[in-house]
This record gives sequence, C-alpha cells and structure tokens, in this order.
Amino acid sequence: MDYLVTIGLEIHAQIQTRSKMFCGCSADYAAAPPNTHVCPVCMGLPGSLPVPNRRAIELAALTGLALNCRIASDNVISRKNYFYADLPSGYQRSQYDDPLCVNGWVDIDGDQGPKRIGLTRVHIEEDTGKLTHTADGGSLVDFNRAGVPLMEIVSEPDITSPEEARRYFQKLRQILVWIGVNSGDMESGALRCDANVSVRPAGQQAYGAKVEIKNINSFRFVERALAYEIERQVTSLRAGERIVQSTRGWDEATGTTVAQRTKEFAEDYRYFPEPDIPPLRLTEAWVAERRAELPELPDARRQRFMTDYDLTPYDATVLTDERAVSDYYEQAVAAARPRGVAPKDVANWLTGELFRLLKDSGETLVVAAQRIRPEYLAEVQELLNNGVITRTSAKEAFDAAFREGRAPAQIVAERGMAVIGAGDALTDMVRQAIADNPKVVEEYRGGKVTAIKYLIGQVMKATRGQASPQAVQQALEQELTRQ
Ligand SMILES: [Zn+2]
Repeated sequence: MDYLVTIGLEIHAQIQTRSKMFCGCSADYAAAPPNTHVCPVCMGLPGSLPVPNRRAIELAALTGLALNCRIASDNVISRKNYFYADLPSGYQRSQYDDPLCVNGWVDIDGDQGPKRIGLTRVHIEEDTGKLTHTADGGSLVDFNRAGVPLMEIVSEPDITSPEEARRYFQKLRQILVWIGVNSGDMESGALRCDANVSVRPAGQQAYGAKVEIKNINSFRFVERALAYEIERQVTSLRAGERIVQSTRGWDEATGTTVAQRTKEFAEDYRYFPEPDIPPLRLTEAWVAERRAELPELPDARRQRFMTDYDLTPYDATVLTDERAVSDYYEQAVAAARPRGVAPKDVANWLTGELFRLLKDSGETLVVAAQRIRPEYLAEVQELLNNGVITRTSAKEAFDAAFREGRAPAQIVAERGMAVIGAGDALTDMVRQAIADNPKVVEEYRGGKVTAIKYLIGQVMKATRGQASPQAVQQALEQELTRQ
C-alpha cells in the first residue's frame, strides 16, 4: 500500500534587535556571562511590567510582508502557560488568537517543479532561557536568552517530502537573512525548526496522527529526521499499529527520533490575553511604512538579473543567494557599464575567480570586498577587452588585486604586465606605420580592408613581436577611422 506524507514546519527565528522583547535588557545573550543580561521583567518577578519592543514588531511585520502575509490590524499578546525550568514566569508571552501576520506563502522548487507553500501565520513571542545539563546530573539555567524577541513562522501542511521541507527551510532562511531580521545562525539557535509529520494510506481523506520533531537546527537534520520518522510511521502502520500524537527529538548520534512526551493540545496551555499589554492596533499607514522598508527580494532580483544582465538561471541563482553578493555584483555592473564591459563578463569574474579565491582564503565577500572592490572586476575585464593584457595576465592581476587591495590597472602598470606597445607607445607606433605607408592606407580607405594586415605586420615588427595582434588591429582601426 502507498502512503501519503504530510509535513508542516514551525520555524522559530530570533528577531535581530538590540534589546529584548518586553524589557530593555540587551538581546545579545551569547556574548555575556550567564545571567548578566537580566532584569525583573525577563526574570518573571512579580509586579514587573512588560513594555513591547517597537522595533521587534516592525521587523516581524516586515517579515510577514516579505512572506506575502496580510498584517493584522488588531494584535493580542497572550500568555501561554506551562512550567519548565527555563521559563521563570511560568508562562511565555506569545500570540494565539490574533497573530501579527496571516495567510502568506513562499515559492520553492518542489519535487515536481515550482511549488507554493502556504503560510498559516507569523506571530511574535519571547525566547526562553537556556538549560545546560551537567555531567553529575545537575542542570544550570542562563536567563540571558529569556525574553529575546522571537517569531514563529507556521507553514500550511503543504510539504510532501523531506527534501521539500529542507528547501522550504532554506528559502525561509535566505529571505529572513536577506531582509536583515535574523542572523541565520542555526548553530547558536537563532534559527531552528520543529517539523510536524503525519502519514496516511493513499485514498484516506483524514490526516494521520501528527508527530512533532522538536528543535532541529540544521538543514541536513530536517531532511534526515523526517526521512527517519516517515519510515518509522509507515513501518508501524504496516504492522497494524496506531500512531500516537506525540513529540519526539532528533538524535543525530543514532540517526533516530526519540519519544519525548505526549503532545500537548492548545487547551493544555490555557492561553489568555496578557493583562499587562493592551492590544496592539496597527494602522494602514504603519503597514505602508513597513512595506516601504522592504528591499527587493531574492526571487525578484534573480528574475531581474536574468532579464537585465542576460545571466543564465544558474548564475542568477548563485548571485542572489546572499544579498551581500548580489549588491556587490550590482556595484560591479554599475562600474562595468560606462567601460563597455558586459554584465555577463563581470558575473564570470565573480562566480569563477573571486569565489575560488574566497574559498581558498576562507573569507566572506563582505570582508574581502574591503580589498577587492567591485569596480576592479569591471576594470580587469576592460583591460582584457582592450587587449592591454592577456587572459593569463588578467587572472594574475586579479589575484594580486584580491591580495593587495590595489587596482588591477595599477598592478599591470607597475609589473609591466601589459602587452608591449599597448597604450601611448602602441599609438605612436601605429601612427608611424600609417605615416610610413601612405599607399597601403589609401588602399584600405578605398575599401580594401585586407590591406590592414600589412600595417599590422609593420606595427608587430616595430614592437618586436611583443604586441597582441588584436590590440594592434584595434589601435590601427581606431587611428585609421579618426584621421
Ligand atoms: Zn530584562
């Protein structure tokens, strides 16, 4: 019998703000010694009063807009009650009935081509503290992370394979980092994912029992954990067993999911509106301001790169993977245009030579860009186009520019890398050849274009064969049309 797989992801993404969600404590929880970025509010002390972080709400709304959501005008912060050692107040401030963003979508490459994954909601909440379990069986708690702004991004159950789940997660990360709301750092837990998966026999309408795999912090683990869990559920169903709604954890060491607890239902949390925070009313003007803040998104930019710069889908994808790379490329193109250098050639320098150098040095482009400025890509190609240097010298000059942070033209000049005769010296020799051979020039101008070959020979002889024939021909043609 065939089984249908239904997957939905809940992604938790920290919102990059300076202070926490409901107090003025620094949100930079990892940099400080444990329990130093804390106050009565994020310690959940009685009588303390929360104040919502304006910027966190703005960034969450920006996220909603980037994910094609509608922004709700009326927002309620609720208390989600549960008891756990990393939650000092005994409840988490979150949203339940009235989330900030609803009904969005994300486009991904699905198993059968382009696919739109629906988004149920994006809501704001606060992160919990962090527990560290010691070897002697004790546990330590650090409340620096308690109250850090967090978004929960909930997908519709539109995902039908572990690969699609990974691609969806990757796409979300790309967008969140692109718009600057999240660091994308999964190792530190700034971005993590819970995956819901159910399996049912083909032909059955009702979904199977939902199993949630908690706190997955890498793309690879999402794929592996889901593949394992699907296999486990199918094997159970085949054996005539019943799947119990439950929460499991992914154990990377054994490559299995492990039962954690029977899944709570919403009513177990006894949600109720946070009495200390009035409902947040967001006006249309406020939403319009957020929309104005939204940059061009990766999919749109990828499309534009193909249309405007004649890039292949592959190059356009590579160049829009990260916003910093994308911006750098556009700066290089801006420098290329007035030099008559094709955007496609600039893309080749970036995805070829520059990516190779970055891989070797282990640097990010942002760091290396302080040396290898975007206009250098245009400059080196211009030198090549004009026949000033050969392709081998161009690579050499580019590598030197990458290491030393100096302009390729300067490097070429200093090291005598230019093909001999290029520039003023070549022009002088070309003029001499024209002056010495008036009859040939006359023939050429009379329409016998092959006559230029004789002149090229004369100039090549003058440079003792150290000029590139293309550069000589170009210089000759330029000179002959000028006079
Ligand atoms: Zn605090």
